Amino acid sequence: MSWLLAFAALLLVTVGLLLLRGTLGKAHIALAYLLVVLGGSAAGGGLLGIALSVAAFLCFNYLFLPPYSTLVIADPLDWLVLVAFLATGIVAAQLLSRAQQRAELARRRTEEVERLASLGAETLNVGRAEDALGAIAGVIRSALGVGGCEILVPGEQPAASVEGEPRWELSMPLRVRERTVGVLRLSNDTPIVLEPDARRFLDALAYYAALGVERVRLTAAAERAEAFRQADELKTALIATVSHDLRTPLTTIKALAHELAARGEEDALSIEEEADRLNGLVADLLDLSRLSAGELPLRIELDAVDDLVATTLDRLRGRSAGRTIRVTRTDRDVSDEPILFARFDLAQSQRALVNLLENAIKYGPPDEPIELWIARVGDRVRLTVADRGPGIPEEERALIFEPFYRPKGARPDVGGAGLGLAIARRIAEAQGGSLTYATRSGGGSEFRLELPAGTAAELAYVHGHFMPDQP
Ligand code: ADP
Repeated sequence: MSWLLAFAALLLVTVGLLLLRGTLGKAHIALAYLLVVLGGSAAGGGLLGIALSVAAFLCFNYLFLPPYSTLVIADPLDWLVLVAFLATGIVAAQLLSRAQQRAELARRRTEEVERLASLGAETLNVGRAEDALGAIAGVIRSALGVGGCEILVPGEQPAASVEGEPRWELSMPLRVRERTVGVLRLSNDTPIVLEPDARRFLDALAYYAALGVERVRLTAAAERAEAFRQADELKTALIATVSHDLRTPLTTIKALAHELAARGEEDALSIEEEADRLNGLVADLLDLSRLSAGELPLRIELDAVDDLVATTLDRLRGRSAGRTIRVTRTDRDVSDEPILFARFDLAQSQRALVNLLENAIKYGPPDEPIELWIARVGDRVRLTVADRGPGIPEEERALIFEPFYRPKGARPDVGGAGLGLAIARRIAEAQGGSLTYATRSGGGSEFRLELPAGTAAELAYVHGHFMPDQP
C-alpha cells in the first residue's frame, strides 16, 4: 500500500515539476525528489527508499537534464549532479530506516520490560501462590499475543489463561536451577512461530513462570512441614500426659498384686508381671517424649567403656534366654589404649545397649552367639552388637529408628512396641554419639552405637591421677 502511495506521490511531483520545468533550477528538482524519497522511506522502509531514489534518478535524467526525453546527458557536470542525488537519496533512505528500526526495537524492549515488571508484581503480590500462576499465565498469553497459555505442574491443577479454541500448541520445560519443575504450554488458532527476539522474551517469561511454580511447591512444603510439626508436638504432649497419668494406677495395681501374691493368690503373679511390662512401656513412652523435647536429664561423665559393658551384661542377666554374648575388643592390635574411655551417661547408655542386645536375643537364632565388639574408631568409641538374625531389608533401615515402627512382616511371636531402637538412637545422639545399622557380612545385623571418646587431655588426667600404675 505504502509503495503505491509513494509512487503516486512521485508521479504527482514529477508532473508538477514538468509544468514548471522552464523556471526551476536543477537544485530545486533534486530537493523536491529528495523529499519524496525521504517521505517514502519513512513510511515504507529502506527498500522503498532505494526504489524511489532509482526511479527519481531516472525521471530526473530523462525529463529534466538536457537533452530532454533521452537518457543522454550533454553537460558532463550534470553527471555529478545526478550521482550526488542518487547517493544522497540512497544514504538518507538507509539512515532513516535504520533509525526507525532502532526506535521500534527500543519500543519493543520497553514493552518487554513493562511486561516483566508486571509479571514480577503478579508473582509477588497475589496472596496465594496458586493464584499467582494463573496471573502469570495471563500475562504471558497477552505478552506473546497467543490464544492460550497453560502452566502444568505434576500433581496440580493446570493454571491456565485461554481464549477461544486454539489448535496449535508449543510446549517448553520450566526449569529452576537445572531442575524441571513443570511445563509451559502455549496454544493458538494459527501455528506459533517465534522470532529470535520473541523466543528470548519467552525464555525470560518462562523463568518467571518456573519461579512461580517453585513458589507454589515451597509454600505447600512449608504448610505440610508446619502441620507435621504441630501434629508431632501434640503427639509428644499427649504421650507425656497419658504416660504420666498411667504411672500412679499402675504402681497401685502392682502393689496390690504383690500383696495378693504374698497371700498365696496364684493369678496375682501374672498380674504383677503384666503391670511390670506396662510400667516399662510407660517409662519408655515418657522418656521418648522427654528425649524428643530434649528434656531428658543426662549425667555425662568420662567413664571406662568396660564398666558400661560389664554393668549392662549384669542388667541383662536372667533376660538373655541362655544365649551367649561374646565380648571382643576388636582394635587391640592397632590401638595402644589399654582401656577405652568415653563420655557418656552410664544409666542411659546401658539402656541403649540393653535395647540392642535384647533385640539381638529376640531376632537372632538361638544357637548362634551374639557378638559385642568394642573398638576405638577415630574420636569415638564404637560398640557393635552383631547377630545372625534375618537382618533389616534396605527399605526399612531408616524406618526402624522411628518410634512405634514395626515392619509389616514383624514376627507376631516377638513382642515389642517399636520403641527400643528409637529410644536407643535418641539416647546416643543426646550424648553427641550415634546409632547406625549395617548388614553383617555372612548374614545378620550390626547395630553400631558410637560415643565420643575421651580426649587426649582428659585421658592424661585420668591416667595421671587415677591409674598411676597403668603403662
Ligand atoms: P521392637 O523390637 O519393640 O519392635 P525396636 O525399635 O527395638 O522395636 O525395633 C524395631 C524393629 O526393627 C523391630 O520390630 C524389628 O523388626 C527390627 N529389628 C530390630 N532389631 C533387629 C535385629 N537385631 N534383627 C532383625 N530385626 C531387628
